[in-house]
Amino acid sequence: MTNDRAIILKAEELPDKWYNIIPDLPEPLPPPMDPPEGYSRVGDLPNLLIGECLKQEMSGERWIPIPEGIRELYLAAGRPRPLYRAKNLEEKLGTPAKLFYKSEFYSPTGSHKVNTALAQAYYAKEQGFERLTTETGAGQWGNALAYASSLVGLDCTVFWVRAVYRWKPQRLKFMQMFGADVFASPSTQTEFGKSLHAEDPNHNGSLGIAISEGLEDAKNDPKAVYCLGSVLNHVLLHQSIIGLETMKQMEIAGEYPDTIISCLGGGSNFGGIALPWMGEALTKNKEIQFIAAQSEAAPNLQGEYKYDFADHAEMTPMLKMYTLGHQVTMVPIYGDGLRYHGSSPILSLLRNTGHLDAVAYPADEKYVFEKTREFVQAEGFLPAPESAYSVACAMDEAIKCKENNEKKTILFNISGHGFLDMDGYGDVLGLKPQPERS
Ligand SMILES: *Cc1c(COP(=O)(O)O)cnc(C)c1O
Repeated sequence: MTNDRAIILKAEELPDKWYNIIPDLPEPLPPPMDPPEGYSRVGDLPNLLIGECLKQEMSGERWIPIPEGIRELYLAAGRPRPLYRAKNLEEKLGTPAKLFYKSEFYSPTGSHKVNTALAQAYYAKEQGFERLTTETGAGQWGNALAYASSLVGLDCTVFWVRAVYRWKPQRLKFMQMFGADVFASPSTQTEFGKSLHAEDPNHNGSLGIAISEGLEDAKNDPKAVYCLGSVLNHVLLHQSIIGLETMKQMEIAGEYPDTIISCLGGGSNFGGIALPWMGEALTKNKEIQFIAAQSEAAPNLQGEYKYDFADHAEMTPMLKMYTLGHQVTMVPIYGDGLRYHGSSPILSLLRNTGHLDAVAYPADEKYVFEKTREFVQAEGFLPAPESAYSVACAMDEAIKCKENNEKKTILFNISGHGFLDMDGYGDVLGLKPQPERS
């Protein structure tokens, strides 16, 4: 039997370097800056980030070796991950396009975020830290860091936006299963949290508040360090493992992508699949179209390209990025991981130079979830609500190919699975129990 569905790499084929696009960008990347007033956030960075991550954040090296210890952890997490040809879906859509998708849904905790969580936990352990702190919104990042901490033998404290904490009890237990301490934020663990908690013990919280709590907690404990799961250069660097594996796999398939698609919140999974290919497009004059799929609830790539804070509480340096404003309010969506006000500085630069297209789908999520139901019925894998945007966008492009009779090769990333998000799909798609017979 010929296998034209799954392209699977051997353990030995796991890449041994991450790709850093910074030296290949069409323009120099604007550095982080201090706001006109207040203390120096840039000067504060060495107290905020893991030393090795800060070094990578600023690095101009094109290739950065992945330490053996991290490659071991990647193998333990099930890397390399398969690349699939969506043959059933192609047939169902009647498209002449070829569709390939990368399977980050095989992640142990359910998302691509383990790729950077493992690297950050490894470096933190090496640097002698005993505990990691972080914030989480949708829960995927907190869960990934809880898992990574557990594997390398560190404690982990997660501040989780209260509104989502209450709505996802299963994901909470999953984090606790790894031994993490998880607090609904605002919590009574920090001074900042206590002040808000005193005003309203049921405060819904926000990502900005949770970030501030995580930072405060780490600052007050010399054995603890704070970790971030998206946006920053070193996070996109770690995620390049996705695209580097995919390059080997497309070569095995004998295909080259015309179009590369993924969902984009802060930019880590999009950067992960796209940047190694983008580097090739920039340095070898290849024609590839890159499309970021977003929600109209947070279409940050349609915002303004300017310096803005990465967090609500203004504790981070200012980054040059496409932003909706760091204190903007956004309507809730089930694809909560896409609800972030800004887009990573690297991807923002590429957007500004015209190398990156973006679409935004309606915030009621009916369209993207209906498309994803078609995908599930054809291919069998359940994407995370965020990944549903990537799936819908790839299907839209495949249908355009049908209308124009174009034989494009479309590559898209499925950033996670939706096993703990069925309530979202159920609500939007109206999945209800059958009436019982008496
Ligand atoms: C966090 C998350 C996203 C959005 O974050 P990016 O940094 O833009 O990738 C997308 N998909 C899943 C499954 C996530 O957990």
